[in-house]
Amino acid sequence: MQFGTILIHNEHEFDAATGALVVPVYQSSTFAQRDISAGQEFDYSRSGNPTRKALESAIARLEGGAAGYAFGSGMGAIASVLGIFSAGDHIIAAEDIYGGSYRILNTFYKRWGLEHSACDASNIENIKKALRSNTKAIFLETPSNPLLKITDLRAACAFAREAGLLAIVDNTFMTPLLQRPIELGADIVVHSGTKFLGGHSDVVSGLAVARSEEIGRRIYAVQNGFGAIPGPWDVFLMLRGLKTLKVRLEAAQQTAAKLALHLNSHSAVEAVYYPGLNGHSGRELHESQASGAGAVLSFKTKTEEAALNFLRRVKLAAPAVSLGGVETIASYPVKMSHAGLPPHERERLGITPALIRISAGLEAPEDLIADFDAALA
Ligand SMILES: *Cc1c(COP(=O)(O)O)cnc(C)c1O
Repeated sequence: MQFGTILIHNEHEFDAATGALVVPVYQSSTFAQRDISAGQEFDYSRSGNPTRKALESAIARLEGGAAGYAFGSGMGAIASVLGIFSAGDHIIAAEDIYGGSYRILNTFYKRWGLEHSACDASNIENIKKALRSNTKAIFLETPSNPLLKITDLRAACAFAREAGLLAIVDNTFMTPLLQRPIELGADIVVHSGTKFLGGHSDVVSGLAVARSEEIGRRIYAVQNGFGAIPGPWDVFLMLRGLKTLKVRLEAAQQTAAKLALHLNSHSAVEAVYYPGLNGHSGRELHESQASGAGAVLSFKTKTEEAALNFLRRVKLAAPAVSLGGVETIASYPVKMSHAGLPPHERERLGITPALIRISAGLEAPEDLIADFDAALA
């Protein structure tokens, strides 16, 4: 079956007990154990819940993994996956991973003795150079945020395999509709479900998918032990959002491409970053590992003032953090997602006060273009 069909037709399409077309919200913390010696699948909702199970098996199938796990946020998923490692282990992380991932590596996990080094992963040689005797994993995100740099997933995952490391990929920007890291060699995929998977800016959620049952058991031990699980209502919203992932993301992607082209020839715009644009240095590589450029782009105005004016004047894009909703969002990395980085580090990465990140929504592209033009005028 094609991806769009699998989104709708899966093992949970009818409720086994009633035939309901929607997975019921099992708002129950515990489950009666009539025959205690027999054991049963569900006994306590931190350990397992039927609503959550439907989401976990759905994401596992969509990513092509052996097992999926749902969490209360993307950071819950990422922190729990990092929890499979031990004090004294070392992780190689791309330097432009999501700010929250960078922060827990640099603070929480550092205090617990998990070492890491950050490198520009868009050049595979940098990953190789960062290898130490205690390295256990590489943590990647491609396209990266906010400058949409591309990492060669096949090469990085092949290197990880050779060196006996786990390759972890944050696939939030692409979703399995456009990029399936496990097929490219990754061992673990993590997601902020808050973004395109949920898709409606109404739920905070996270997911992890393991290539093998064995890796899955290690993640499950943390999920069950840490307990960073989602409640069944949030899972219901995720299951509901997921059904329309294909139509939403394909439409938003078309709009992003139109916006990128338009901005690219706009006299008030200094540079546009979008992996679907001719002239993006990672375009060919991206197209070799993903089936679309996605719905996130960034651009630089000529001055900081022009960027701030754009954010003040734009009407159809919400000036906000986050991405992947039905509404277009314009975020300002310097003050939002990357506010925690020291200014010289931001400057080195190219995250300047003139940079704006756009997550295209489902508004008509003509309206967005007219609105952007007015805001840039
Ligand atoms: C938002 C985001 C996260 C964190 O997810 P939350 O749901 O906000 O906890 C992780 N990675 C990426 C790429 C994100 O965009």
